[in-house]
Amino acid sequence: MKLNENFAKMPGSYLFYTVRVKTNEYVEKNPNAEIIRLGIGDVTRPLVPAVIAEMHAAVEDMAAAKTFKGYGEDFGYSFLRNAIIKHDYEPLGVKLELDEVFINDGAKSDTGNFAELFDRDNKVAVCDPVYPVYVDSNVMAGRAGDYSADSGRWSNFVYLPCTAQNGFIPEPPKEHADIVYLCFPNNPTGAHIGYSELKAWVDYALREGAVILYDAAYSAFIEGDMPRSIYEIEGAKSCAVEFKSYSKTAGFTGVRCGYTVIPKDLKIDGAVLRDMWARRQTTKFNEASYISQRGAAAIYTPEGAAQARQSIDYYKNNAKILREGLADLGFTVYGGVHSPYVWLSTPKGMTSWEFFDALLDRAQVVGTPGSGFGPCGEGYFRITSFGTQENSLRALERIKNANF
Ligand code: PLP
Repeated sequence: MKLNENFAKMPGSYLFYTVRVKTNEYVEKNPNAEIIRLGIGDVTRPLVPAVIAEMHAAVEDMAAAKTFKGYGEDFGYSFLRNAIIKHDYEPLGVKLELDEVFINDGAKSDTGNFAELFDRDNKVAVCDPVYPVYVDSNVMAGRAGDYSADSGRWSNFVYLPCTAQNGFIPEPPKEHADIVYLCFPNNPTGAHIGYSELKAWVDYALREGAVILYDAAYSAFIEGDMPRSIYEIEGAKSCAVEFKSYSKTAGFTGVRCGYTVIPKDLKIDGAVLRDMWARRQTTKFNEASYISQRGAAAIYTPEGAAQARQSIDYYKNNAKILREGLADLGFTVYGGVHSPYVWLSTPKGMTSWEFFDALLDRAQVVGTPGSGFGPCGEGYFRITSFGTQENSLRALERIKNANF
């Protein structure tokens, strides 16, 4: 019996697990410390009333034989998929068919699972820094080659450096890649891509025969005239899959629901990718729960949409408070406009983990070290706006008093 050897190749533990362990160690040594957690990207506001009412009604359905729901429709209830097409895509001028939309149980599962459809020898391009799921899931699949602890990189990946020099927006590389992961608005840098930069990626994918896996989990945070979906770019339906989530849009991190769009135009060697995913899902997934999907559908009612907007605006205001407050304290700050994440340069040449320790020790504030997202994240630090307004203000006050 042999285990999947790729798991043993993976360095250390998952970033947020390490952050949690380090924080817990600090609390054990300093039991009276009152920690402000602005590290992991979890939300703090409760579900909005319209969602709660709809979920209660769905629970009632489950209580009576006449309305009880067992296994759902393949790929998600049509009431939700129709609402997605009508409210998330039609206003952008994007037309989708019902069977191009797949309800998921959050974007993590689908972004982590999607590369199952591709051959092991495909070349993967990822941003650096990057949401770790794209890298780790390809490592587990044996697509990454060997890890170098010196460079912090895998031999088979194409890395796309995202630094202050390029405004954290990568250009398509010179070399060929088969699978490209893009995430905009970006986790962790908070940067968002414009139309012309995104078009350059679609052109690259069409030219190279590559597939873009476009993670738009934070699209609800976008302001102004910026792309909210990759399908706003001509040609994207032939080369891109889009992942969305209600986790950050409507506080669904504990409910679990989102969706994935795979246009039927997306074909590789004549094979329709959408059909492959459908085959995969019918084999391995039995849908998000009826209750979650009813809750998600409530976000598309006028009152649900307005309430969800209020929550997003609350976090966006926190991001503004943190962004402007940290800048006033002399930090160099990025992101936090189209995104809940504020990305800052660590002060005085500290490494990301040195700043993590110092911030915990001197301000009892927890953030996430940029280097945990990739080598180009070294010297940066991520703070989230998903806490309460009170804690965002208190964290700023403490950082001020810590005198970095
Ligand atoms: N994609 C990105 C970029 C994320 O930051 C996250 C969560 O933090 C996810 C996907 C996963 O979200 P969920 O599985 O809760 O939908």
